[in-house]
Amino acid sequence: MRDGGGQAVTLELAERETARATAPAYRMLSVVVPAYNEEKNVPVLCERLLAVLDGLGVPFEIILVNDGSKDKTGSVLRAAAAARKEIKVIELKRNSGQTAAMMCGIDHASGDVIIPIDADLQNDPADIPALLAKIDEGYDVVSGWRKDRKDAAIRRNLPSRIANKIISLVSRVHLHDYGCTLKAYRLDVLDGVRLYGEMHRLIPVYASWMGARVTEIPVRHHPRSHGKSNYGLERVAKIILDLIVVKFLDRQFMKPIYVFGGFGMLCLAVSGLAVIWALYLKFFEGLSLIQTPLPLLAVMTFVTGFMCILMGLLSEILMRTYFESQGKTSYVVRERLNFEPTDRPMAEKSVARAKQ
Ligand code: UDP
Ligand code: MG
Repeated sequence: MRDGGGQAVTLELAERETARATAPAYRMLSVVVPAYNEEKNVPVLCERLLAVLDGLGVPFEIILVNDGSKDKTGSVLRAAAAARKEIKVIELKRNSGQTAAMMCGIDHASGDVIIPIDADLQNDPADIPALLAKIDEGYDVVSGWRKDRKDAAIRRNLPSRIANKIISLVSRVHLHDYGCTLKAYRLDVLDGVRLYGEMHRLIPVYASWMGARVTEIPVRHHPRSHGKSNYGLERVAKIILDLIVVKFLDRQFMKPIYVFGGFGMLCLAVSGLAVIWALYLKFFEGLSLIQTPLPLLAVMTFVTGFMCILMGLLSEILMRTYFESQGKTSYVVRERLNFEPTDRPMAEKSVARAKQ
């Protein structure tokens, strides 16, 4: 009896596995395009995107976000949206930057695979099928690698190379080119990801830390033919600072007191040693307290240590507010079997109850 039941369960599981293997990996694609002063590029981009997407035979939408352009991008986008219902346009009130514009597009997307792409024709829509093939293989994030990059060598490519190396070293997620906008994400990878600053390039890192399967494929890259790049050298510094934030949020976010408190306790220990040493010098070597910098060191490290521990406590409170108010959990579930779709973790349920 028990054996029969076990067999039935195994069979059912096998059926599900095959169903998953044969079902298309996605039902709808959302291409997200942030655009700032791209009046000349947008019409060509729409044309090329439509040519590729129409050929795929999968429902799609193209979400163009006008990031407060000062040229005629707005009216060009309106005309594009009037021509095809798949082209959706969002007009931002003011220029908010590429990452924010991309976040806005992702927030409005209804597809289950999201493909961000630059509006300036430097990325090639013809690479989209190759990205999707990797999603079909079961990857959650497919990142484009501009193997033959067509930007200024010293001002752009060199700093970008350095930034890529640093991100690769620090994050231990090894990609050649984090900065390429053209990528494909499964929607669930982006669930809960909020983008600030230059962070859109760090999504693969974050996703990989959360257990996503990440890969990279070479994509084409073209020189900018119209308009000008909005960025220069200063971006590398911003990216590195963002990396520190992401790293901290990932690794230590759950227990900030371990970081701040750990450093605080080290400071207190140094302070204690400085006091002992100063007293030893005074009583055994006859050296007056004011003759050494030790008392000053003791006070400074004591205050620093104390403040660090307080800061740790504060961040613990912040962390709890963050998790508990949003129903976040300290773990990430890849898949649930034999659960009803309505079975949510307790944390989510209590947030839903509180909202009622
Ligand atoms: N972009 C944007 N808002 C900005 C700056 C840029 O939406 O404030 C868009 C821009 O229209 C382009 C993409 O972001 O589609 C990449 O910008 P850019 O070509 O200037 O960057 P680069 O390719 O030089 O890194
Ligand atoms: Mg560009």
